[in-house]
Amino acid sequence: MKSTALKPSKTPLKVIPIGGLGEIGMNCMILEADEEILVIDCGLLFSDLDHFGVEFIIPDFTYLRDRKDKIKGIFLTHGHEDHIGALGFALKSGIDAPIYCSTFTSLLVRERLKEYDLNDKVDMRVFKMGDQIQFKQFKVTTASVNHSIVDAAALIIDTSVGKIIHTGDFKIDPVPFIGTELDRNVFKKAGDEGVLLLLSDSTNAEQHEHSMSEGGIYPKFEQLLAAAEGLVVISMFASNVARMSQIFTLAKKMKKKIAVCGRSMNQNIALAQEIKYIHDVQDVLVNLDELKNYPRNELIVLSTGCQGEYRAALARMSIGEDKNITLQQGDLVLMSSKMIPGNERAISKVINELFKRGAKVLYESVHELHVSGHACQPELKEMLKLVRPKFFIPIHGEYRHLVHHADLARETGITDDRIQIVTNGSVVELTPDSCKVTDKLEETRVLIEGREGSEMTKLVLKDRRKLGETGVVFTLMVRNKESRLIISGPEVILKGIVNEAQEGWLIEEAKNIVKKIVEEYESNINRGEGESDLQEDVRVELRRFFNQNLGKKPVVVPIVLEM
Ligand SMILES: [Zn+2]
Repeated sequence: MKSTALKPSKTPLKVIPIGGLGEIGMNCMILEADEEILVIDCGLLFSDLDHFGVEFIIPDFTYLRDRKDKIKGIFLTHGHEDHIGALGFALKSGIDAPIYCSTFTSLLVRERLKEYDLNDKVDMRVFKMGDQIQFKQFKVTTASVNHSIVDAAALIIDTSVGKIIHTGDFKIDPVPFIGTELDRNVFKKAGDEGVLLLLSDSTNAEQHEHSMSEGGIYPKFEQLLAAAEGLVVISMFASNVARMSQIFTLAKKMKKKIAVCGRSMNQNIALAQEIKYIHDVQDVLVNLDELKNYPRNELIVLSTGCQGEYRAALARMSIGEDKNITLQQGDLVLMSSKMIPGNERAISKVINELFKRGAKVLYESVHELHVSGHACQPELKEMLKLVRPKFFIPIHGEYRHLVHHADLARETGITDDRIQIVTNGSVVELTPDSCKVTDKLEETRVLIEGREGSEMTKLVLKDRRKLGETGVVFTLMVRNKESRLIISGPEVILKGIVNEAQEGWLIEEAKNIVKKIVEEYESNINRGEGESDLQEDVRVELRRFFNQNLGKKPVVVPIVLEM
C-alpha cells in the first residue's frame, strides 16, 4: 500500500497497557491518538483463584467501550491465549473493530470465536509479515519474530509523534524449525530511521544465557525415540506447531506411528495441516483405537495436559482412566513444556502417578526437553541495540521482570530518565520529547466464571473466600404478617462449620440463643414497644457464640419468612 502522511494528533499520543504489565498474561495495550485507537493483543490470564470458581481473568474493557467508535483495529501479535483469549469478551462487550493478525493466529481466533458464536460476525484481516496497514493517524508494519508459536509478529507503528515498536512475545532463534530467524535488518532499519518508543517482551529478563533453539529439541527427541522400549507419550503445549512438526518429521524418518490425544492438540494439528506447516502425515497418523495393532515401541502419543490439568489426557493416563492408553513398565513419558508457576503441584501429582504406573518420566527440571519461546538477556540487549529507542517501556512480565529489563536497557546506554516502568492502567503520554505517566485508570481486571463467562464481582469473591474459610450458619423462622410474632422455628443449619460429631450440641445451643432473642423480641411487641431488628440481633449473637466456642465468626444468614 502506498503510504500517506499521518494526520497529527491534537493531543499527546497515549499508550495505555490494560493488561500484561506487572503480571504474565492478559496482554492488552491501547495506543490512542485524538481521532483513532489501536488495540494490541487481547488476552486472558488463567486464574489462581480457580478454587473459588474464577476460571480466568481478563482486562477491563470499560475504557475501550467508552471510546469504541475511535477503535480502528485490534492487532494480535500471535495466537497464544494470553494474547487472544479475551477477544470474545471484548467483542461481546460491544467493541467492534477489524481484527488484524497473521495466518495461523487467524485460524486459532476463528476456532476460539466459534465457541462464542462470533466467527461470522468479525471482520478478520489476515496480514503477511512485512505488510503495511495504513490508518489516518497510524501506519503499522508487521515483522516476523521467533516465538513458541508459528506466525508471531512484532509491530512497527508510525505515529505523528514518532515510531513505536511493540515486539510482541519474541526470541531470536537461528533454528526455529518452522520459518526463519528473526530478521535483524528490519529492526535495525527502524532504528536507523529513529524509534521514539520500544515496548519489549520482558518474560525472560532474568535469564542470563541466550535462549535455546527450538531446533535443538530435535536431536534429543531423536535419541530418546530411537532408544524407546515401549510406548512414548509426549506431552506439550498444543499451540507449539514447530515442535509437533519436529515429532512428525522424526516419526516419518523412524517409521513410527503417532496418535493424538486431547481436543486442542487434534484441533491445532488440523489447523497446522490447513496451512501446510504439518503435511504428508496420513501414513504416520493413527487413531487411538488402532494403537493395539502396532508394536508398542513404534508408537508415539501426542498428548495435552502438560500443566497437570486434571481433565486432560495425560492426567487420565496417569490414574489409569484413559480408555485407549494403559501405561506399563517400559513406557516413556516426555513432558516437553515449562512448568507454569502455580501449576507445579498439579504437574507433580501427575508425574508421581505416571511413575507409579511403571512409566519412566522425563521433565523440564531434570531433562532439557523444552526450550523457552522468550528472549533472554543477550537477545533483549540485542533488540535494544538494534532499535536504539529514545524511550523504553518493558512490557509482558511480572514487576520484577520489568525491573530487570529496565536494568538491561540502562546497560545498553539508555539513561534512567528515558525508561519508564509502568503497570496496568497507567496512562503514558508520548510526545517527540517526552514519555511520562500522567494518569492511572481504575481497576483493570475482570474475574470470569466458566468459559462462557459471567463476570464475578469482588464482593462475590470475598463472600466465597469467607464461606470457604469459616462456613455458614442458616437460621430459619416463620413470622405472622399481622401479629409480627414468630409462628414456627427457629431451625438452625450449619454448613462447613465443624465435623458431624460436634454439630449436635452447637445446633442446640444456637437454637437456644435464637429462642431467647425471639422471646425478647416478642415481649417488646406485646408491651407495645415496637419491633427490634430480629435478623441483625440473631446475626450478632450467633457470630459471638461461634467465636467464643470455635474461635471463628462464620457467615450467618438469618431467614425470616412472612406468612
Ligand atoms: Zn506468547
